[in-house]
Amino acid sequence: MSGEAGTTCRASVGAQDGTRPSPELFGQVVGQPEAVAQLAAASRRPVHAYLLVGPAGAGARQLARGFAAALLCPEGGCGICGTCRRALEGIHQDLTEVERSGAALSVEDARRVVQLAQRRPSQAARQVIVVADIASARLAAPVLLKTLEEPPPATVLVLLAESVPAELATIASRCVRIDLVPVPADVIARWLAARGVEPDTAAAVAEAAGGDVERAVTLSGDAGFAARLDRWRSVPGRLDGTGAAAATLADELLASIDEALAPRRQQQADQSRADAEEAEAHGLRIGGRQEREAQQRREERRWRTDELRAGLGALSGAYRDRLADAAHQRRVDSQAPRLDGRIRQLAGAVAAVDAAAAELVRNPNETLLLQALLVRLSAVVA
Ligand SMILES: [Zn+2]
Repeated sequence: MSGEAGTTCRASVGAQDGTRPSPELFGQVVGQPEAVAQLAAASRRPVHAYLLVGPAGAGARQLARGFAAALLCPEGGCGICGTCRRALEGIHQDLTEVERSGAALSVEDARRVVQLAQRRPSQAARQVIVVADIASARLAAPVLLKTLEEPPPATVLVLLAESVPAELATIASRCVRIDLVPVPADVIARWLAARGVEPDTAAAVAEAAGGDVERAVTLSGDAGFAARLDRWRSVPGRLDGTGAAAATLADELLASIDEALAPRRQQQADQSRADAEEAEAHGLRIGGRQEREAQQRREERRWRTDELRAGLGALSGAYRDRLADAAHQRRVDSQAPRLDGRIRQLAGAVAAVDAAAAELVRNPNETLLLQALLVRLSAVVA
């Protein structure tokens, strides 16, 4: 990763003619200078399909919208006209964002994409169709393939994927692939700080966001975030060896995760309201309420997991601090050997917390997971 996102974008975008597309189009994209430069260059002579591959929260959606603005704007992406602004908000008539309607992108979803692709643009010279989570299109992939092989002239498809499974190789081979990188915590922290977030908060939320810029933004506006991490850090001192204390703490921590979701739910409610107003003003577009709600549930699931992982990270840190203290004492204390048992216990606690965080991916029953972990940690005298 080289340098700050914003400055790198500015240097690489529009460097040749000094004009279009404007760096403003990618102002919401953090830490993806190469992807930005590739799409900015591609916008001058676009091909029919692009595949943006990158982890959740790395900015694929914002990249796709910036790219769409460059393709739809009569000026090639001025960044200030109504077309650019509407494209960046995802509400331009000739920009369609297709979400999967169920757990995976279905054959029906794919047929809708094919139909949409045949439409003529209504305002701009072309239309852009963004299809989210293309990696889930197992059975639906062959349906899309035909459109990718015989593309309609005025349509540009932008497919988004967190990864490219083997079944998707054929689809991937028909697209220009643009790779996004997980955004390093220090890049997110600097970006947040430049937007007025207090530096210590910026660093803490960037660390907890795991490369997910969206999550970092929400956490930075979440006054309870620091208090929640403190609650996790307080766990070692509050476990007293009894199952009752472990159970109470588990309940409390799970409740704090619900509390963490509150700002997210508010954002979603605002988004739903904006969508409804938009639908009223411009007629319904694809991606109805049910789809939106299903997507919101999936996002909430992911956020719960992320929140729990951030908490476990703080808890692991609390045991690591105790372990470091004990190891230091062991070096300076003449009675040191009596500390060996404690050091072993603390090292075991760190390992147990880290194992629980890893287990979260495979077994997302967070209540059981957390209760079992806290019972195990009860045996460690902090
Ligand atoms: Zn424009």
